[in-house]
Amino acid sequence: MVQLKQQSYAEYITDRQGFSGEGRLTDFLTRERGQLMLGGRANLNELAESHGAPLDVVYTPQITTQVERMHAWAAQARARSEYTGAFLYAYATKANFAAEAVETALAAGAHYETSAAADVTIAHSLWRQGILPENRLICCNGSKEPNYIAAICDLRVDGCESVIPILDDLDELGSLLDCAAPLQIGVRERAAGNRDGRHPGQDRFGLSAAEIEQAAVQIAASQHRLVLYHAMVGSQIEDEAHFLDTLRESVAGYCRLRRHVPSLRYLNFGGGVPTSGYDMGFQFDYAGFLTKLMMTIRDTCAAYDVPMPDLIGEFGRYTVATHSVFLIEVGAVKAGQPGDPDWYLVNSSLMVSLPDSILVEGQEFVIVPLNGWDRPVRPVRLAGRRTCDSDDVYPRPHQAPLMLPDMGAGLILAICGVGAYQQMISGRGGAHHCLSPEPARVIFSEVAGRLRSRYVPQQDQVTIMRLLGYPPQHMTVPLRFERPATLPAPRSLALGAATARRRMRERVARAH
Ligand SMILES: *Cc1c(COP(=O)(O)O)cnc(C)c1O
Repeated sequence: MVQLKQQSYAEYITDRQGFSGEGRLTDFLTRERGQLMLGGRANLNELAESHGAPLDVVYTPQITTQVERMHAWAAQARARSEYTGAFLYAYATKANFAAEAVETALAAGAHYETSAAADVTIAHSLWRQGILPENRLICCNGSKEPNYIAAICDLRVDGCESVIPILDDLDELGSLLDCAAPLQIGVRERAAGNRDGRHPGQDRFGLSAAEIEQAAVQIAASQHRLVLYHAMVGSQIEDEAHFLDTLRESVAGYCRLRRHVPSLRYLNFGGGVPTSGYDMGFQFDYAGFLTKLMMTIRDTCAAYDVPMPDLIGEFGRYTVATHSVFLIEVGAVKAGQPGDPDWYLVNSSLMVSLPDSILVEGQEFVIVPLNGWDRPVRPVRLAGRRTCDSDDVYPRPHQAPLMLPDMGAGLILAICGVGAYQQMISGRGGAHHCLSPEPARVIFSEVAGRLRSRYVPQQDQVTIMRLLGYPPQHMTVPLRFERPATLPAPRSLALGAATARRRMRERVARAH
């Protein structure tokens, strides 16, 4: 009988992705001499070795790369399509409000898109400090409660001329028209949100064509100006033809309005530009997409005999999804039911770290092992040990299992694509499900061409208990089980192998 040699993880990934084991794995990950690198410079294996897992690695230079790449693709697209309008890259801050993310995007030249009153407050403070320069637009989207409108008006009255409230409902207009200083105003087209029934959640945003006409009339009779037409299709739209087809109608809508509103100068296609963070085989021709979009706008504008607008994109996921990675460690293996894959029990909570895995149908993340590439590959499912919740599993029960090295305890996984939305939805700094503490974080940023890093320790129990309202006397109970140093710690118990090695090194270091 011929004994078939089992395929290793490295061979599996070569088969599936054509990846040789060294070099470029995705547009944000490379592998060099067996070490996984984020953005070419953050060595994830070394970070796991020195800090242990779980660890949140935040590499802000990747945000700069994303903005710069898009600017370069847009420049190519403008040249190819002979597009005479400008291209403006805005960062949709709701994808990640962390100061290091917002400030990096701004330093890379991004304009600002807000989704809430508090967001305008952040923009206002950054504008006052000069971190958000005068020449950058601040596009304010979403349904606006009175405090949101008040925050916009405060910013304008303080002297910021580039803030642009974008009408989501007609009844926002009255209080905006009351603003003492002249505003640039935008309108959001409702039809773009769900033109083909594929994006039902988008249907609630924006104005009908008749409401847009009504807003235009009211704005024309005021001291304010209508300058922007907003049309957003959806999010993570990987189907380029669908994206363009849906926007084509909106471009015509812009042109029809522009014919009798000469102050109109921006066409904003919102979010939806996809990120590579969710699928190792991801492909999207960004330059091709922008070229076709600009050609469509150019030709439609010619047909309507109006000038080409300045084109704005609001990039949320695309900007930040790939700049941050969670490192987690498998602590134990639990046999699956007969016929089902085994469980890899990880020192983390998947539903807390990756809330979109339970919120967004079919949501996936790129997951790459740091070690064990020469081990046989096998199907497994991950289960978060830090909650006792049957939903704390990845992938979801109806999705195919992961293919990972047959290594069990000590395997460390990089979960990628987590920089957008996950921390905001999960509530960064909050009290989480089953009191699962937030992992330690290493934040890399580039200062004058040099990479700096900063370490933020794991969220401590006292903070969590204080958030939940427990008085201080409850906090004196010892909360962490420390095994006496004389007892050898079984690998699969309490601490993962890498963490145990690190603890041991620290103990040795302290002893000297
Ligand atoms: C959320 C949002 C974005 C960002 O969307 P992504 O798909 O993450 O790029 C942009 N514009 C508006 C109005 C949004 O609501």
